[in-house]
Amino acid sequence: MALRFYNTLTQELEDFHPLVDNTVRMYTCGPTVYNFVHIGNFRTFTFQDILRRWLSYRGYELNHVMNVTDVDDKIIINADKERKSIEDYTALYTKAFFEDAAALRLQQPEHVSKATEHIPMMVKAIEELTAKGCTYTSEGSTYFRIGSFPPYGKLSHNDFSGMRTGARVDVDEYDKADARDFVLWKARKENEPAWDTPFGEGRPGWHIECSAMAMHYLGDTLDIHAGGIDLVFPHHENEIAQSESITRKPFSRFWLHSEHLHIESQKMSKSLGNFYTLRDLLDLGYQPETIRYLLASVPHRKKLNFTFEGLKAAAKSIERLRDFELRLASSKLSPGRNEELTERSEAAIRQFEESMDDDLNTAEALAAVFEYVRAMNTALDDNLYLEENRWESARVLEVFDSVFDVLKPTQSGGELNDSDIEAKIEERNQARKARDFKGADAIRAALMEKGIVLEDTKDGVRWKRK
Ligand code: AMP
Ligand code: ZN
Repeated sequence: MALRFYNTLTQELEDFHPLVDNTVRMYTCGPTVYNFVHIGNFRTFTFQDILRRWLSYRGYELNHVMNVTDVDDKIIINADKERKSIEDYTALYTKAFFEDAAALRLQQPEHVSKATEHIPMMVKAIEELTAKGCTYTSEGSTYFRIGSFPPYGKLSHNDFSGMRTGARVDVDEYDKADARDFVLWKARKENEPAWDTPFGEGRPGWHIECSAMAMHYLGDTLDIHAGGIDLVFPHHENEIAQSESITRKPFSRFWLHSEHLHIESQKMSKSLGNFYTLRDLLDLGYQPETIRYLLASVPHRKKLNFTFEGLKAAAKSIERLRDFELRLASSKLSPGRNEELTERSEAAIRQFEESMDDDLNTAEALAAVFEYVRAMNTALDDNLYLEENRWESARVLEVFDSVFDVLKPTQSGGELNDSDIEAKIEERNQARKARDFKGADAIRAALMEKGIVLEDTKDGVRWKRK
């Protein structure tokens, strides 16, 4: 079965191949850096990371661009409240975003593009739209006339033809039910940052940022454009209108949208105040990889309800896999290979791959891994698991972790690394040999305090991180 994705544009599952050579040209809408982003936002960014990793696993090169919106209404208001320049204000939250993204093990896109560093590309795009008769100006601002783009509505599958009354809007927050002419360039207001252009002083609208930067880095037609489901309308609809009016070519072949993270049956959002940031959850003692696992475990087109029980279950799931990894590494096994288990390992990888190929069905991919681990643990209990099966299981875990990336514990400052721990265990073994049981117990207790649990087994000492 080929790799396929559900495409919002066609409302169908479609086989995916990049248009040109082996490189996937992908654009994802990044954060607006007016505050710490919440784990709802990170659900979308984690989905994009899983998408990246699966495309790489399938042998594609990536050219992925993500924007950072560092000028918008909320940023200007918040920076002003704190009496900071928008540069200083957004630098703080941009840094925080990338720290959180790194903690969640999100791979960096090939290009991270800040809106304020790409104004000339936006100006050029607006000039091209004006030359094509798609714009008008009013009170110093330039607007896109959606009536000039008949397919308007094709992404969100709405028929807006009766609504194009020339009404316009120039704020970044939109009424989602209504289609309006939208602002491309906002006239300068007092005390607002502004750039000088042939069509007046001002600043860009949000939609033109993404169109201009996507086309600048990736060309006229992208392979994939992705974002959260709330961006379908109007943001992505407007991006299509702008880009296709300029190029007369399809803007993106595939549109992938991820569903929201909910909490108590409501969308997690800044405006409702019902959100947790990554930092909130780390302060409560959760590990970043636990949060990553939870966000990745539900396929992106399904809503995910955030609960602390869910988070605890995610931690348990990771622990089960780590326990299996430890057991594999530390068990004394009889030589040889159990062919039946070899086949099960191959089948597990096949099921994992088929699930991921099926529109990134992470839930099924995980089910395949857990079913496999259960079967291998039983084989180990029954002494049916042989030495040469060990590397096959390691391969299954490696495939799993190349996408989910949760097996390696996060090391925080002051923690011991693996060789420190092994040195301590050796010290304890020596103490025991010398019948210094007090000393041996003290070493064990000190390790325990740092979250390292020792287990004395017939095969020697095993350890794991709590
Ligand atoms: P923003 O910074 O508000 O532009 O949002 C950044 C990304 O997070 C966008 O792709 C949004 O669609 C997405 N997003 C916002 N809220 C949620 C949520 N509760 N669950 C999942 N994604 C979200
Ligand atoms: Zn965008």
